[in-house]
Amino acid sequence: MLLFFLRVINYKKNNYYYNKIEGTIIFLSNFAPMIEDKNTPKTSLSELGEFGLIEHLTKNFEINQKSTVRGIGDDAAVLDFRDEKCIVTTDLLVEGVHFDLAYMPLKHLGYKAVMVNLSDVYAMNATASQITISIAVSNRFPLEAIEELYEGIYAAAKLYNIDVVGGDTTSSTKGLLISVTAIGHANEHVIVYRDGAKENDLLVVSGDLGAAYLGLQVLNRENEVFKVNPNAQPDLGPYSYLVERQLKPEARKDIKELLAELEVLPTSMIDISDGLSSEVMHLCTQSNVGVNLYEEKIPIDPVVISTCEEFNLNSTTVALNGGEDYELLFTIKQEDFPKIKANPNLTVIGHMLDKKSGMALVTRANERIQLKAQGWNPIKE
Ligand code: ADP
Ligand code: MG
Repeated sequence: MLLFFLRVINYKKNNYYYNKIEGTIIFLSNFAPMIEDKNTPKTSLSELGEFGLIEHLTKNFEINQKSTVRGIGDDAAVLDFRDEKCIVTTDLLVEGVHFDLAYMPLKHLGYKAVMVNLSDVYAMNATASQITISIAVSNRFPLEAIEELYEGIYAAAKLYNIDVVGGDTTSSTKGLLISVTAIGHANEHVIVYRDGAKENDLLVVSGDLGAAYLGLQVLNRENEVFKVNPNAQPDLGPYSYLVERQLKPEARKDIKELLAELEVLPTSMIDISDGLSSEVMHLCTQSNVGVNLYEEKIPIDPVVISTCEEFNLNSTTVALNGGEDYELLFTIKQEDFPKIKANPNLTVIGHMLDKKSGMALVTRANERIQLKAQGWNPIKE
């Protein structure tokens, strides 16, 4: 664990934007402190050219996976999964739409871009083994900025034992785009789809919910304070868990491995990117079942509860609709319950019904209200 940053300030100098880091308050594990040195001259991307840039960014990537026959350097990568099925998933992140560099350090962006993809592979109950990375950058970014982005990608690949086997590099007239494709593999008998939930199955979630959304609220608030008073020193200490969940999410590789260890094969699974409510509805709709989701069972960290009070938000609403938690949501057969019940990482939050019973939240007052898929948009005003 290393002490990390406090505030990221987007500032413009010589037509480049920089993320300036001030102070050190938040703990973000596995990251070295980033120190912005204002006096170091920045390298323009045009000095390197496309091939120079690719070579520069990719030279440190190692190949560790047996399934990687050929990585970066040819027209295409070659992978060999032998008897296993190949899993492929991709996500595109666009500046101004999916991230704001005012409070998203580039290193974290690189890390998060990898995590959101790995999370999708683990949600298939598969092993992630390779990624490709495509970027479009405007020349407002110096080389050092792209290096930071790749430091985050590198850290993620190393920690999750993933080979970076290719990508594409191009220019953009304005913002930054990053697209990651993740590739994985699994025996076809263990792949878990969204459509396998059955009536009477139990609904289970890993970790806790709502923190990433609140982390964004805290960062937004600090950004507003900063705009009014650039000398204000924000105290993000009490919110470090929330901010870490927003800026440096972890894909739940450990949960996929835990399930294998416990010999539990979920009947359906999805990762929580848009919010619990909408993901529960995806599982139900695709599996043709209904659900009772119990409000009192939803795992919420105490910091989420106290911060919700501060922001005048309802913690259940935040957990249901906040999104970006990257936890795994799955259903299991009732007979598997004894295998998971003592595990602090897993919480049973509901139970699957027949389709005509509908999809409902059972409140603490024992009222049954219909689930709504708000996603994260309506409350992320
Ligand atoms: P091509 O002309 O066939 O598209 P490129 O010159 O774009 O080839 O890429 C050369 C090699 O570098 C390829 O293996 C490609 O997958 C890899 N590559 C290109 N850009 C990136 C990037 N941003 N990150 C990782 N690998 C990259
Ligand atoms: Mg190319």
